[in-house]
Amino acid sequence: MSVSLVDLPPAPRPSEPAAPPHGRTVWHINTTAHGGGVAELLRRAVPSHNAAGVPTKWLALGGDAEFFAVTKRLHHRLHGYRDPHGALGGDERRIYAATTRQLGAEVLGHLAPGDLCVLHDPQSLGLAPALSAAGVRVAWRCHIGSTDHASPEVRETWEFLRPYLDAPLRCVFSVDGYAPPGLRPEQCVLIPPSIDPAAAKNRALAPDEGAAALRAIGLETDPAGGPGPVRAGTATVLQDAPLPPGAEVVLQVSRWDPLKDMEGVLAAFAERIAPRRAAAHLVLAGPEPLDIPDDPEGAEIFARVHDAWLALPAPVRARVHLVKLTLKDTEGNALLVNALQRRADVIAQKSLREGFGLTVTEAMWKGAAVVASRVGGIPSQLRHEREGLLVADARDGGEFAEQVLRLLADEGLRRRLGDAAHRRCAELFLAERELADHYRLYQELRA
Ligand code: UDP
Repeated sequence: MSVSLVDLPPAPRPSEPAAPPHGRTVWHINTTAHGGGVAELLRRAVPSHNAAGVPTKWLALGGDAEFFAVTKRLHHRLHGYRDPHGALGGDERRIYAATTRQLGAEVLGHLAPGDLCVLHDPQSLGLAPALSAAGVRVAWRCHIGSTDHASPEVRETWEFLRPYLDAPLRCVFSVDGYAPPGLRPEQCVLIPPSIDPAAAKNRALAPDEGAAALRAIGLETDPAGGPGPVRAGTATVLQDAPLPPGAEVVLQVSRWDPLKDMEGVLAAFAERIAPRRAAAHLVLAGPEPLDIPDDPEGAEIFARVHDAWLALPAPVRARVHLVKLTLKDTEGNALLVNALQRRADVIAQKSLREGFGLTVTEAMWKGAAVVASRVGGIPSQLRHEREGLLVADARDGGEFAEQVLRLLADEGLRRRLGDAAHRRCAELFLAERELADHYRLYQELRA
């Protein structure tokens, strides 16, 4: 078991909204310093809170394989996903309770009574009672969820977490309707996640900067172009050959998680898109699985995608590129995700479940044409035919492929949807709004 302080470089951010002073430290606690939407949020929020005068620290909790196997099941179940391991029983409860009890004791070595603490996701919720009993003002932010509270997985999982849900003064959800029954109305807060338009992942790239980054990892070749700014080893690209000039790129950026359905994207591309669109290439990009300690499935899912890629007929395989990004080089990873999203002609998010897809928001900011499943938070992010195209049945590779093909064939439609997506993102999903929401949350915790 371990608790580590995540140390980040300071952010010079004088233009952020002024924070109300309160003289207490704000602690954010999750289970990984790299990978996924929560780490993404904290990498931005923690330095910018400090720059705005709110002393803020980030603790990343460790745990053993047993604990993360249980919490990964809680994650899938809260999305309403069938749990192949069956019901949550005494073993799961013992593992979860023992680990969070021990982590809570370690965390209390860092915190002082009166400090404010935001626990993220089910992995850390179990600390809430102990922290709260020690005088810490606790909120829990749940980044996942489902509005289908009748689903047995969702119901059972909320029952499993029930003993911990009274302790947080506030429970924060990304989408209206994710809060479980039984919370006090004043406990529930809605904060949709946001992105930082100035961050390396989202800022505008100079001419050739994106292409140079993609050349540096070997995804693109251009004999006339110079070397890219990305360090060697930032990514591994598995491909028969680089993208040819003029390739139309369909991209999905996701963790290697069954709910992101990278395999489904690959199958839809190979069977239905590639045969009908000669210039189309698919890029599936995700993190190096070893870099995400709290996601034990990453290596297995990547291996499945890799096997499926190897089994493709050679002419199709040559049009599919698998990219593994090293999360340890945070800036390199961010620049590459940015470059990939800006290079793509169509960005896919074929998730089977999704709490709130930051990758969708990132694509919207870049004015990309998006095809995404109508699941979880995604329809609250973009609306069908207005800011992107939504696929009603997330498992329907046919409908997904049709929408991708429609966009590839219609540049005007891509531009219209992409422009509208950028405007909606600017209005609703930028960091300044979320920062103000956080400050309001801290004020409520203190009150
Ligand atoms: N991401 C990344 N590198 C990768 C894959 C994902 O930096 O190889 C980032 C992605 O850009 C986004 C976040 O991880 O900012 C994923 O957040 P999202 O809400 O889409 O999904 P989650 O992983 O939290 O379920």
